[in-house]
Amino acid sequence: MTATEPDARRNASPYLYGREAASVARVLGTGQYGHTGLTAEFERRIAAHLGVPDAVAVTSGTAALHSALLVTGIGVGDEVIVPSMTFCATVQAIRAVGAAPRFIDVDPVTLCVTPQLVIEAVTEDTAAVLPVLFGGRAVDLGPIREDLAKRGIVVIEDAAHAFGSHRGSHYVGADDTALTCFSFGPVKNLTCGQGGAVIPRTPEEAAAVRRLRTLGVTQSQSERAEITSYQVEGFGLRYQLSSINAAIGLAQLDHFDITVRSRRHLWHSYSDALGALEEVTPIDVGLDQTVPHLCQVRVPRRDRVFAHLRARSIGVGVHYPPNHLQPAFARWRRDLPATERVSREILSLPFHQHLTEADVHRVVTALRHALKATGGT
Ligand SMILES: *Cc1c(COP(=O)(O)O)cnc(C)c1O
Repeated sequence: MTATEPDARRNASPYLYGREAASVARVLGTGQYGHTGLTAEFERRIAAHLGVPDAVAVTSGTAALHSALLVTGIGVGDEVIVPSMTFCATVQAIRAVGAAPRFIDVDPVTLCVTPQLVIEAVTEDTAAVLPVLFGGRAVDLGPIREDLAKRGIVVIEDAAHAFGSHRGSHYVGADDTALTCFSFGPVKNLTCGQGGAVIPRTPEEAAAVRRLRTLGVTQSQSERAEITSYQVEGFGLRYQLSSINAAIGLAQLDHFDITVRSRRHLWHSYSDALGALEEVTPIDVGLDQTVPHLCQVRVPRRDRVFAHLRARSIGVGVHYPPNHLQPAFARWRRDLPATERVSREILSLPFHQHLTEADVHRVVTALRHALKATGGT
């Protein structure tokens, strides 16, 4: 693969350290692409990195969320509390088990849910809460954890943005009162090409996700080679991470400290440069604890500013159009004033490791011109 364009035309872009291609080539040479020792190695390395007993690697972040909901028994008749302000994958995972999303608002400063917003939304039918660690920020439901547990409500964290972030002295994922779901998709902080992981709370939960991801069959591939049949022991899907994808993830993990430093550095550069723009409010990612996934700002006249920047080849984006206003989720629509307001103001600036300091200044200068051109001061 050739290097990605080192400029601001893209909003997000994977960053390869060079060894990924050779690792993939080596796997291709073995002829074993399914779930092999390499996937298990990736799981061990992820678990060791986070300081947790186990991690189960699956095909995507969506598959991780779906698996977590399935193994905790969430299904038809259940309500799952979820912010409307998230990628649609979070909501589709809830729909995949037949449960109903109960959309809630977010704090406009962080774009994350708060304990208060979650607890206010609990009903008799609430079976799970799915906080989204937006932009990488480690949402802390600490104050209501006990209350939720007492009511039998499970917490499943959508940590698709948050690999490497901290909550206090622990990595996100190391909280054994929640299942944590990571995405290792193409533009996430750590990529497998496509991939994801569930961090289970118990060995039983780990075993359940492992059975689920191999079509309900429990034997490993090597065990299966020695017997004439296999046993399907429960419901299952084809969700195990391939060794090809694991090879990419392992190469990425070797350089993750560089990823952390560069993403933080880039965010600082943006933050410094944006300070001079009066009409711009950066979303607070809580940088001391966070490996930032996005660089988002709130601006007036967003649609016009967006169009102005796009016309000048600046890769701005919007994360995300709110889900409660999507046609597919119209049945669960509610009034969410903060979400509706901020969804008209948010703008994601190009944010990936190919960007240089000069790119950052070009983006911020273009943003200043866009605000001026669209009628600001
Ligand atoms: C990327 C993402 C997902 C889904 O992960 P995939 O690996 O793309 O399936 C879920 N939630 C959020 C917030 C995401 O950004």
